[in-house]
Amino acid sequence: MNMMSAIRGRALRGMAVLALGASTLAVNAAVETKPTHYLEIEAHDKDTRSLVSRAGYAIDEVRSDRIFLLGRLEDVARLERLSLKVKARPLQERWFAMDASPEAARYTSYAEVAQQLKDLEASNSSLVTLMSLGRSTEGRDVPMVRISGKSIAQAEGEKLPVIFYMGCHHAREHLSVEVPLMYAKYLVANYATNADIKRLVDSREIYVAPIINPDGHVYDYRNGIRGQMWRKNRRANGDGSYGVDLNRNYSWGWGTGGSDTNTRSDVYMGTAPFSEAETQNVKAFVDMQPRMTTLLSTHTFSELILYPWGGTYDKIGEKQGNPADLPVFEKMARDMSAWNKYTPQQSSDLYIASGDTTDWAYGTHGIFAFTFELSPSSMFGGGFYPSPAVIEPTFNANLKPLLYMLEFANDPRRVLTERIPNFLQTPVKIGVGIASAKDVQF
Ligand SMILES: [Zn+2]
Repeated sequence: MNMMSAIRGRALRGMAVLALGASTLAVNAAVETKPTHYLEIEAHDKDTRSLVSRAGYAIDEVRSDRIFLLGRLEDVARLERLSLKVKARPLQERWFAMDASPEAARYTSYAEVAQQLKDLEASNSSLVTLMSLGRSTEGRDVPMVRISGKSIAQAEGEKLPVIFYMGCHHAREHLSVEVPLMYAKYLVANYATNADIKRLVDSREIYVAPIINPDGHVYDYRNGIRGQMWRKNRRANGDGSYGVDLNRNYSWGWGTGGSDTNTRSDVYMGTAPFSEAETQNVKAFVDMQPRMTTLLSTHTFSELILYPWGGTYDKIGEKQGNPADLPVFEKMARDMSAWNKYTPQQSSDLYIASGDTTDWAYGTHGIFAFTFELSPSSMFGGGFYPSPAVIEPTFNANLKPLLYMLEFANDPRRVLTERIPNFLQTPVKIGVGIASAKDVQF
């Protein structure tokens, strides 16, 4: 048995869903510093923004003349020492979970995600296989479903393309769980009645893992309302601090900017590339999928479609990567932005961030790898904790981009020469009701 079938053979029947005791939370809270303010920093270009990201800050929001990030009052002086102009506003509850009501939809917990994927398998076991991508730092399974009309043996025989959708590298980005989760359900629910979905599910191998960072999600999740503002995983760093930024822990360009060696930083890169169980899980799986062509990692927020490189300002093909791939990435990002209205750009046009998923997946394996920063557009419109009322419109706005990736997964280079098929051309319900930055005064 090769390693591929070993991993793939690990279909789950009973997953380890751990409860986090209240006492653990209390102990952790005592040694952790939570953000108390939203800092606004004057920044007119990517070099200034990268100065901030290189100083170990996770930039949450980029506008043409300024950026915003979560921090504390002591960060103001630290940033001012870099000759930056900084304003600090206390975090305000009214920015978050607006119009949330007990009857409204709510965000899905880790245990519910695991259960819903199990139910999905039970509802159609010929299409869906529940698996574990691996275990987290605290020992939780990372639930994943394989969706395909073909068995693993058939898929290997027919060399079907593989596509991987991931959510929640970052704990507080709860909406990034919902989109891949709803997408998995959508594919299964529409298989019997929609000829295009059936065609795609029968001719692709689809993997969906909505929560790459279950420990972080469990720590942050508070029944669908504002959580702990936690970003990283829950690794005990040995100095009283917790967590590694999983999206700075991949090996490609690891530690070359936009991440930090300070364990307390929100962009702490870890002690080595792939030092974390959660990134090792992704690596082990992707390394054994030679037919994987396309990958999407959902994050929040800002409404962006990002592609490599993130660790360098160079364009694809300039020093690393295949120059022929750049127009493919650009065309895919532009096509997808027509549906979700997000801004398509090279990741480092925002600021330098090294060691992320997409640089590694493309750099190491040539996978057309994208990051979506989902809604809302601003912290003042909900930030990491928008009303659960945005879940459905955000899914609706992103369904066609996700199906587009699936359509072209057999050969993404087709996007340069072929029309977008008709089933993707029909009008799509674009999300409404997502508060924009203009709606909320601060
Ligand atoms: Zn993120």
